[in-house]
Amino acid sequence: MRKRDGTAGKERIIYEFRKFSGLESLVLQTKLSKLSKHLNLKIDIHTHIMPGTMPNWVQKFGYGDFIHLEHRNCKACMMKGDKLFREVEANCFDAGTRIKEMDDTEVTVQVLSTIPVLFNYWAKAADGLETSRFFNDHIADTVDKNPKRFIGIGTVPLQDIDLAIKEMERCVTELKMPGLEIGSNINGANLSDSKFFPFYEVAEKLGCALFVHPWEMMGEQQMQKYWLPWLVGMPGETSRAICSLIFGGVFQKFPKLRVAFAHGGGSFPLTIGRIEHGFNVRPDLVAIDNAINPREYIGKFWIDSLVHDEKAMRYILDVMGEDKICLGSDYPFPLGEHHPGKLISEMNFGNQLTEKLLYKNAGDWLGIKS
Ligand SMILES: [Zn+2]
Repeated sequence: MRKRDGTAGKERIIYEFRKFSGLESLVLQTKLSKLSKHLNLKIDIHTHIMPGTMPNWVQKFGYGDFIHLEHRNCKACMMKGDKLFREVEANCFDAGTRIKEMDDTEVTVQVLSTIPVLFNYWAKAADGLETSRFFNDHIADTVDKNPKRFIGIGTVPLQDIDLAIKEMERCVTELKMPGLEIGSNINGANLSDSKFFPFYEVAEKLGCALFVHPWEMMGEQQMQKYWLPWLVGMPGETSRAICSLIFGGVFQKFPKLRVAFAHGGGSFPLTIGRIEHGFNVRPDLVAIDNAINPREYIGKFWIDSLVHDEKAMRYILDVMGEDKICLGSDYPFPLGEHHPGKLISEMNFGNQLTEKLLYKNAGDWLGIKS
């Protein structure tokens, strides 16, 4: 790791971050703001990792499309059964490679989350719990070995709420994770479904942050060409999740729940006018579970900064607020920001706003309060 002025201070701050557990609240903001001018902290809340080796779940469980990893001729292949799903680079599973790339792009801390294709919500509940535990243990182990560079968030088998809650409690209390990553829908069920309310209730009680990531995009089967599920489906899928949580009254019932959404909130920020108008003109369709204007919820959840466009960045700052946008790069995948935080840094927002976007808002979302 490169040494530079202020390294000791930076390491101390990261150590303080690592001491965080979802059940504790730390006094850090003052320290952070005092030291940050010299430290250029960057916390990337949106990065994915998988274990370098994992069981062949299809063989083990005897059904399904579980992904496992095979290393062939120096290439790492994500396999769906015996079919190649995707080739990945070492930065997808090797902590050392990641840290080198973090140093190259001056990322101080990555928040590690599972690759959404590994959620396995479709599996039998007990098997979903087993794979979740495997991925969570791997992330916790990666963090333990590199406590100054990584913070981990877990995955839980949301096809079974009781098991999901149990694993959430293990993630927070035992593995000291400050949050979880969840899908934008769970086997087609929207996040507004009341069956998820006990899960939100415990997440709120534990102070467990949630990162909502689009996956299993609606309409995917009808738009296989041109990478459309990723380019068109994902932004819609994220807005589906935000609208579901708003209209289903989840933010209303669980006001202390801290939720962040990937990809700049998808299509939600640009279509908030349409969403609000719909709420006003057809309350019989829209306001059936929650009578509060959707715009009232802006400022009560976070989004990441992954919009790839200066105008879009200015717009989401204007609409969503400068306290609710956190650096998120989708590392190590090609659709992510390859130099995390470059867009923010090059827009010359000034120290105060830049610091909020690069790490302070991430601290708020993760639950590190002043
Ligand atoms: Zn992602």
